[in-house]
Amino acid sequence: SEEWLLKSEKLAVVGELAAGVAHEIRNPLTSLKGFVQLLQSGYGKKEEYYSIMLSELDRINLIVSEFLLLAKKPQALNFQPKNVKGLLDHVITLLNTQAILSNVEILTRSENDIPLIYCEENQLKQVFINILKNAIEAMPDGGQVIVDIQRYDDNHILISVKDQGCGIPEERMAMLGEPFYSTKEKGTGLGLMVSHKIIEVHEGRLEICSKVNEGTTVDIILPVVSKRAGKSLA
Ligand code: ADP
Ligand code: MG
Repeated sequence: SEEWLLKSEKLAVVGELAAGVAHEIRNPLTSLKGFVQLLQSGYGKKEEYYSIMLSELDRINLIVSEFLLLAKKPQALNFQPKNVKGLLDHVITLLNTQAILSNVEILTRSENDIPLIYCEENQLKQVFINILKNAIEAMPDGGQVIVDIQRYDDNHILISVKDQGCGIPEERMAMLGEPFYSTKEKGTGLGLMVSHKIIEVHEGRLEICSKVNEGTTVDIILPVVSKRAGKSLA
């Protein structure tokens, strides 16, 4: 069933993210250990060490809280008005390690005064993770991912994720929505399908446009709050 797929994809993404999280936490931990050893030896200026140690601890705390937010058990859908740029910034922080390891730079551009959208925050974050991970994975030799947030029309915003990756051959485009279709050795082939479903629940649209060896653009169109206010969101 749908629910099962959502759950299993969530576990897969959380599992993959866990490796990145562990890696990202190791750096501030190594640094903390170094400072504890310095303090133990009585060498240097204590006050300076303390402030660096505190900021390393803050960093670990941020990574862990972000991760827990995503790993949390899905609850009943709870739609809230949100700023999409904020959600994207959180997700990009989480994917930073993977991006850096792949030599990929993620740039975000947003028009001013983008209206809020009604969304289930964790589900929408899941969509952004799926799409951004695909973009990163499409560029094993590095490159740029550009995320554009703009008004689409009076009632919708457009979030466009553009990579410079391998692209998708036309004859394979039709397979993309199918579960378990993956060209990757460790792919689940669930990310796009789950993303489509989540965007559908948000009464939005997800469109993919691709050119082999040039790159892929994923457009997500979502209704803004004013349009949905007062509507049933079941
Ligand atoms: P997975 O990433 O686990 O393979 P997805 O559902 O996320 O599963 O994607 C399915 C397939 O769609 C991928 O295996 C890949 O072939 C193709 N694909 C998705 N996004 C991109 C992209 N940005 N660039 C190139 N191919 C892509
Ligand atoms: Mg994927």
